[in-house]
Amino acid sequence: MFRKIHNLRTRTLLYLLLLLSGFALASYWTTSHLLQRSLLQFEERHAQEELERVRAVLAAEAQGLLGSAVDYGFWDDTYEYLQQGNPDYLTSNFTADSMRNLRVDFAVFLTAAGQPHSAFDIGSGQLESLAAGSGKLREVQAGLAALTPTLQQKGAYLLRWIDGIPALLAYSPVLDNSRTQPRRGWLVLGRLLDDDGQAELAQLVSTAFQLAPAAAASVQPPRTAPNSIRVSRVLEDSLGSSALRLIIQHPPILHSQKHAGNLLLIGNSLVILVLAVLAAAALLDRLILKRLSLFSRLAEQRQRVDEQPPVWPVQGHDELDKLAQSLNELMAEVHSAHANLYQDARKDPLTGLGNRKFLGERLPLYQAIQQRQPELALTIYLIDLDDFKLINDCLGHEAGDALLDSIAQRLRVLIRASDTAVRMGGDEFAVLSLESAGQGSHILAQRLLEEICQPLMFQGSRLAISGSIGIAHAAPGMSQEELLRNADIAMYQAKRAGKSRYAFYSAAMHANVQERMFIEQRLRQALIMGQLEVWFQPIVDCATQEVVMVEALARWPTDAGFCPPDKFIPVAEEAGLIGELGHYIARHAVHALPRLQQLRPGLALNINLSVKQLLQVDLVSQLCELIDAEPLSRHSVHFELTESAFSENLELLQQQVNALVAAGFKLHLDDFGTGYSSLQRLQHLPMSALKLDKSFTRLLEEGDERIVKVILSLGEQLQMSVIAEGVETLLQQERLQALGCRLMQGYLFAKPMPEAQLLDWLQARETTASPPLES
Ligand code: C2E
Ligand code: CA
Ligand code: CA
Repeated sequence: MFRKIHNLRTRTLLYLLLLLSGFALASYWTTSHLLQRSLLQFEERHAQEELERVRAVLAAEAQGLLGSAVDYGFWDDTYEYLQQGNPDYLTSNFTADSMRNLRVDFAVFLTAAGQPHSAFDIGSGQLESLAAGSGKLREVQAGLAALTPTLQQKGAYLLRWIDGIPALLAYSPVLDNSRTQPRRGWLVLGRLLDDDGQAELAQLVSTAFQLAPAAAASVQPPRTAPNSIRVSRVLEDSLGSSALRLIIQHPPILHSQKHAGNLLLIGNSLVILVLAVLAAAALLDRLILKRLSLFSRLAEQRQRVDEQPPVWPVQGHDELDKLAQSLNELMAEVHSAHANLYQDARKDPLTGLGNRKFLGERLPLYQAIQQRQPELALTIYLIDLDDFKLINDCLGHEAGDALLDSIAQRLRVLIRASDTAVRMGGDEFAVLSLESAGQGSHILAQRLLEEICQPLMFQGSRLAISGSIGIAHAAPGMSQEELLRNADIAMYQAKRAGKSRYAFYSAAMHANVQERMFIEQRLRQALIMGQLEVWFQPIVDCATQEVVMVEALARWPTDAGFCPPDKFIPVAEEAGLIGELGHYIARHAVHALPRLQQLRPGLALNINLSVKQLLQVDLVSQLCELIDAEPLSRHSVHFELTESAFSENLELLQQQVNALVAAGFKLHLDDFGTGYSSLQRLQHLPMSALKLDKSFTRLLEEGDERIVKVILSLGEQLQMSVIAEGVETLLQQERLQALGCRLMQGYLFAKPMPEAQLLDWLQARETTASPPLES
């Protein structure tokens, strides 16, 4: 009924009101019913008493009339009158006055045989003979016949109906005074209880009554007065039950009392109801409902988890207090757990610095300050450690973690209290700084670089690393994504420029980086889909005209034609895809080699290795596994390493190179002459060949042979063969040959081509050429 009301307090109070009203109504109804009943009983008892009184009066009247009849009947004069019929008797004894006194309306003399002797109506004051067939005579005779002999002898009175009028008949036998003579007949005195008679009697008993036929007992009181009190009883005469019923009916006398009682009850019920409702509501409200609603209000108020939790009031020790206490404890726990969670969610667990999320929350704060103080510049320094993976791979994660932590602590010390340093994840840190515009960015960047380079001693090893920093300024309203992207681009640029340096973001940088990012994205996809191809370019021994080696070159067909390796290889290196790419190329090339060797037994395969691949610790085992899976000798696979790779004196590189040679592979130094490798280092590199960069081959065309000569003699001295790259013209070939260079690669012989084409090319050459190579 009140379901739609969601307030528990209102709903409970409404239910309470309804319930108590129901109780009050029921109690009123019962009490009022009881009151009505007892009043009715009282009225009925009262009416009964009146009935008794009237009956007694009627009985006394009847006895009185019977007494008068007996007085006349037991008298010699009457006896004689019946015997001889002397008229004086009547005139002297049945005078109008005496009859009126006795209230006799008629008199009938009957013979001993019960036949009318003489009969008179006395109502008018004179004696008038009754007609022979009159109702009165008939009833008198019938009444006599109904009497028992004893009653006939003693005298009796009867109540009967005569022509619809109730009548009292008093019978006396007529005897002589001495009562020695036989009965002469009967004298009957009749009194009509007509309306006048009844009114007379009513006045006497001061109670209105009615007389009705005895059979009317079962008749219901008339509907016209449903509330009236009605009692009745059959009147008795000498025969017992008579033909008359005495009825007393009158409107209830206690009507006004009943009304007042009812009003009193209603008033009383209402007062009790109101008091009960008020008391119950007050108690319920005070003890439970008010507190419950306060509880729920407090619970509702708490909309944000990071707000201080509300305190539910505890007053004593009842259930609600216990509930409040539990809620308080629960909320305190939740709050502290949340506070911890909040902290944890914004903290990098390893270094204790804030994390990316924390940065995201600080940035708008800094931006707000910057908006108020436009002279300040908001700058982000995005720091990425250079080749951090090496530390992890070579010295283990513990060393890596120690280094990260140490750098974090150094950053913390270096920056100002108003700056924020966070670890973005992995080996990436960021410093958010508000500084006077045009000042300090270079200085801070330089100091950050220096701080990062400080070596750390860890378990006896000296850990050193450098970092590249991308710097971007936040324009007002710039989003975190945009700022970080700019810093990322600048950092990328710093890496490309040779690492261990910083770069400021510029719009031009953006386009460049965007292209590289686009390439990176597509390249990843291409690797997954296996869309890269391996092409082969032959290397010819010009002394024998034999194809002695083929160089495997990566090809990437795209919708816009082939993407040049010079574009995508550096992207793959920067994006960390080179390992996968290199492995892909090596696998396909190695797989093709046995087929090529069927045409050119002893043909060697040259595979390019990026320096990034060399830094992969499991590179050598991977390559061995790859090549050993094919019917190949490890000697027939050569790896080309660019000279620039050895500009950094990394111990790991040396180890890897040694391992490759130890595994049975031959190594070529690619693009020789373009880098700045020291001759001293060259001497320690286990190379079997130098690849003369095509820029030097081109010089031959112009007649400049000096560098080529030097490199050729260097090769001779170090016992490394020299392969000339980029031989495009016969002139170049001839000059190279004249200078003693036998191995050549270039468009003059063949451009890089797919395996099938190479097979055809080899086949074609085979038919025109000479015996197979020795090895
Ligand atoms: P690279 O190792 O020096 O490869 C030789 C490059 O010279 C190839 O360029 C080749 O097509 C080109 N070339 C050959 N003969 C001539 C010629 O007569 N004239 C001219 N102008 N060029 C000639 P490509 O295929 O564009 O490759 C460029 C570079 O990309 C390669 O230089 C190599 O450093 C790298 N690269 C290619 N494939 C791979 C690979 O699978 N792995 C790695 N790490 N690097 C690769
Ligand atoms: Ca090469
Ligand atoms: Ca080269």
